[in-house]
Amino acid sequence: MCESFSGGSLNVNLQGVNPVPSTALACMPPSSPPKVLIVEDHLPTRRFLADNLAADGYAPLEADSARAGRALMAAERPALAILDLGLPDRDGLDLLRELRTHGDDMGELDSHLPVLILSGRATEVDRIRGFERGGDDYLAKPFSYGELRGRIAALLRRSSMRSAVGRVRVGTLELDPLSREVWVDGERIPLSKKEFALLRALAAAPTRTFTREELLRDVWGFRSMGTTRTLDSHASRLRRKLAVGRMVFIINVWGIGYRLLDGEAPS
Ligand code: CA
Repeated sequence: MCESFSGGSLNVNLQGVNPVPSTALACMPPSSPPKVLIVEDHLPTRRFLADNLAADGYAPLEADSARAGRALMAAERPALAILDLGLPDRDGLDLLRELRTHGDDMGELDSHLPVLILSGRATEVDRIRGFERGGDDYLAKPFSYGELRGRIAALLRRSSMRSAVGRVRVGTLELDPLSREVWVDGERIPLSKKEFALLRALAAAPTRTFTREELLRDVWGFRSMGTTRTLDSHASRLRRKLAVGRMVFIINVWGIGYRLLDGEAPS
């Protein structure tokens, strides 16, 4: 069943956790319901969300402040966070910015955590700001639970490739986001943290070409943007390290950026 959590004033609502419905959670292993963190200071809204998410097979985690939310992000590694902006101790956007600029080197927070902003601030400017700070989706209050649930399922589906829940496989390449280990053809490949972060970013959509700007933002963060040269040197080192048995996984798409390849002998 679900693991329990107890600590401080934070609590996890596990009431009514049902078997995982196949529709909403098709991409997740049925044995571990995805943890959804709710950062919301308005108690009735938080309870409403927790009860409904639990009934839909998720494992909700509740936080009534930005501080509590940050602590649960670090301790519980949720699959997704629903983030209110008007919080008693700190603006939700500040927490979001901290999350997105949190270097992978520090390892405490998952800077790729999918975040759905759920806020009463509903103007176009508010929504744009939310996306600029790194929100993945934005839903204005008052909201429909059905729509929220649909958006959560869509976000989790998109992030499942790089989810901490499971290993990612691309051809004979395999990576484990939790242990940060990588194997090619069963052989473990030691990578630096940035090399791993770059590979994980590419593996999020193995058939897609990522632009240099996207990769710099994803791997080096919004604030401390690395340079193109930094990216290129990491990419070529990563490519060399993964070149086991003449397989090529990292492709330089000239003038655009990089993509992952299913493993192919070099020409
Ligand atoms: Ca609020």
